[in-house]
Amino acid sequence: MASITIDGYKTECNCAHCGRPLKLGVVTAERGTIGADCMVKLVAKNKARFSGNGKPSAEGVKQLAIIATKGIDYASRMYGYSARHFVFEAA
Ligand SMILES: [Zn+2]
Repeated sequence: MASITIDGYKTECNCAHCGRPLKLGVVTAERGTIGADCMVKLVAKNKARFSGNGKPSAEGVKQLAIIATKGIDYASRMYGYSARHFVFEAA
């Protein structure tokens, strides 16, 4: 199964998926820099991981991108996140 990994964020860029201008782009290892809304569309539903419709929220994806930019040590110390928190299954 293909995955999408959040590596960080970039400001003032264009989405590699739809071309839309972005204030904040989510940098991914596999899909380039994409908008949070496109990221949500590209990930598989996972009801065990996400409540509601089984998708992360665009806001949640943006927050993860900001945290990822600060590094895994920061993510671990501040949020208890490990690398897998930044990896999503592609739809
Ligand atoms: Zn897009």
